[in-house]
Amino acid sequence: AVKTINDIRKSFLEYFESRSHLRQPSASLLPAQDPTLLFTTAGMVPFKEYFSGASAPPAPRLASVQKCLRTTDLESVGKTKRHLSFFEMLGNFSFGNYFKKEAIEFAWEYSTQFLPFEKERIWISIFENDDEAFEIWNKHIGVPAERIVRLGRADNFWGPAGESGACGPCSELYLDRGEEFGTDEQNRAPGGSGDRFMEFWNLVFNQFDFQKGDYLPLKQTGIDTGAGLERLATLVQGVDSVFDTDELMRLRQKAGEVFAAEYTGANVIPLRVLTDHIRTLTFAMSDGIFPSNESRGYVLRRVLRRAMLFGRKLGQREPLLYKLCDTVRDIYGGFYTELQQNTAFIADYIKQEETRFLSTLDSGAERLEQLLAQSKSVGKKQLEGRDVFQLYDTFGFPLEMTVELAELEGLAVDTEGFSAEMEKQRERGRAAWKGALELPIAREIKTEFTGYTNLEANAEIVTILNGDR
Ligand code: ATP
Ligand code: MG
Ligand code: MG
Ligand code: MG
Repeated sequence: AVKTINDIRKSFLEYFESRSHLRQPSASLLPAQDPTLLFTTAGMVPFKEYFSGASAPPAPRLASVQKCLRTTDLESVGKTKRHLSFFEMLGNFSFGNYFKKEAIEFAWEYSTQFLPFEKERIWISIFENDDEAFEIWNKHIGVPAERIVRLGRADNFWGPAGESGACGPCSELYLDRGEEFGTDEQNRAPGGSGDRFMEFWNLVFNQFDFQKGDYLPLKQTGIDTGAGLERLATLVQGVDSVFDTDELMRLRQKAGEVFAAEYTGANVIPLRVLTDHIRTLTFAMSDGIFPSNESRGYVLRRVLRRAMLFGRKLGQREPLLYKLCDTVRDIYGGFYTELQQNTAFIADYIKQEETRFLSTLDSGAERLEQLLAQSKSVGKKQLEGRDVFQLYDTFGFPLEMTVELAELEGLAVDTEGFSAEMEKQRERGRAAWKGALELPIAREIKTEFTGYTNLEANAEIVTILNGDR
């Protein structure tokens, strides 16, 4: 029976191969063809041009296991049972070949015949006015209407990934994990924030091409699906969270040893964060994305610093994270052979980053605690932009990290004030450097889908090569 992560990878690919899909290797986490995307966020990203018709796919049906990195989920990691910043996405794809009906049939057959999911526990969400999808699920597959929910744009309309490209309504599969996971408002049906209904597969019915604000019809419709491997494993193995699945648990246990902490009580969130973040860092760095001050690199630096902050919560005050790189390689190097070559270098790089930040982490954390206490005592609802900028500039605290920490204390952050301070500093920098060779390596906090030009990419490489990070 299919049980381990490895079993699932294998059985998924074999299932779709037996249904005429051509297996594709995972692409890099760095989306080579799309300058508007920071990272590969879904299985469809390497195939964007096949959907648009700009280039021809090697076959009309493809299947893959794709490495994904989602910075939008970073602050959820540790707090929910289902979010990781790095995860593996299983997917089947059709380019002008099959559409809704077959995509639904495949997902249903695989989930109920090849994975041990009980039909009665599967719930479906569809895009609010997609009656066609409703008919297929209800009449053709036989899912009762009570277990089909209609959700809006935020949940059930995908894309585009980046600034343009394929997008369309989608339909998700959820497994009802039972009342023991909650019975409140958030656990009554799919779409709530509770843990009872876990989304495990999303089927996207691509029919639009988003270009400069317009939804144009795609020349040919397509199918893009994504099933989170760690979520499938959670459900197949009947464990509590993605962090209890076979492979991630090994890493989590190693993190517990290295950080001398048991996985209970207040240690749970920090250990989850450390487990996830070291995996993200190791995979991203092995794809050539290194912590730095620029765009993609800055996101990785954020990941690393967030991990260190949680390591500090476990009472640790020395570089330790780097010691987990070898374990990542040991667990994942069989399937992702690229990990075999670089982990020594990656570990060394992480250790240096840790050493640098540790010197300011303590004073920064104390400063932040002071600021939070002061603001609360005078009844302020938010931290001043000036103070948050000082944390950033003097102590190396990424804005998002300060926002997260302030939120935990019920305070907001004046992000506009922060940006204004950043701009002021840039002005000062420009004045000071007038006449000097002007390399575009000014500090920027671009963390989401902002444009990413070749110039910036080059600057990033220059920065890394110069060791100025
Ligand atoms: P959620 O609503 O739980 O945040 P999503 O709707 O944002 O998930 P999709 O964009 O539909 O997720 O991605 C397709 C699939 O990838 C999901 O059904 C899920 O199995 C998996 N997935 C998405 N985000 C994550 C994540 N952060 N960690 C692990 N798996 C994920
Ligand atoms: Mg999400
Ligand atoms: Mg969702
Ligand atoms: Mg979804």
